[in-house]
Amino acid sequence: MADTPTTLAARIVFIGAGPGEADLITVRGARLLAQAKVVLFDALADPGLRDLAPSADWVDVGKRGFSGKEGSDFNGQTRINQLLVAQARSVGQRHGAQAIVARLKGGDPSLFGRLEEELHALREAGIDSEVVPGVTSALAAAAATQRPLTRRGSGRSVSFTTAMTRTGDLQCGMGPGQRADTEVFYMAGRQLAPLSKGLLDAGWPADTEVSVVSRAGWPDMRHTVHTVGSLDDASAIHAGRPTLVIVGAGATEIPDHPLTHIALCGEGSPNSEA
Ligand code: SAH
Repeated sequence: MADTPTTLAARIVFIGAGPGEADLITVRGARLLAQAKVVLFDALADPGLRDLAPSADWVDVGKRGFSGKEGSDFNGQTRINQLLVAQARSVGQRHGAQAIVARLKGGDPSLFGRLEEELHALREAGIDSEVVPGVTSALAAAAATQRPLTRRGSGRSVSFTTAMTRTGDLQCGMGPGQRADTEVFYMAGRQLAPLSKGLLDAGWPADTEVSVVSRAGWPDMRHTVHTVGSLDDASAIHAGRPTLVIVGAGATEIPDHPLTHIALCGEGSPNSEA
């Protein structure tokens, strides 16, 4: 492939838009967005973000025209990759190598954002890029519900998992046992019954608390609490909304009284008083 010299290409800046309202973007993300000549954005981004770059050319690559026909998600992503390269070159030729093309992604670009494919396409084409982190929806959900994902003594690890495969099925078998004290599942909103079964199979007790949060970071957020065994009850409540499922230590309400003693490994209940 004949690469256009990098000096003629603009820089692509991946910017995490945050999970909801426009002011959840980082200050750095907002500053770089304001400098962009072109913004390629996803469906989840708040339209209010446009006010940060009113004179840029905004291109919706979230769904329409890019996800393609049924089963052609791969092609949709390929088109986005090609568009990134084409935009970097065309903006670079018009405005120079210092110009910026923003690739705005919901939440944080590094979590379930197809970032690796887009970075790969840019590297192959010799185009410079930078990634600006954003607030991922799991952190917005923890903040809004005041249920911290880590807990002293009982919640020492957190996992971020997507249960979805490319074909839209729940991945068979989520691996042996639990992944972490708190497990956060992205893109599982339409698969709560199979997720419940998968969690039981993985060894979670049926009465383990599960916090389900949809549209975290928005004024119309919904939050419900279930158990692993009754998780499917959440399906109708959160239908059609971006939804996170938080299982285990980080799903529970904080205790009425602060912990006074943290049990060491093998020392018994972390809630026991000194
Ligand atoms: N990069 C994004 C995730 C993209 S995958 C991030 O860091 O948040 C899309 C999935 O993210 C959705 O299916 C849903 O599970 C979750 N999600 C995104 N925004 C959300 C929100 N505001 N509230 C709850 N879940 C959200």
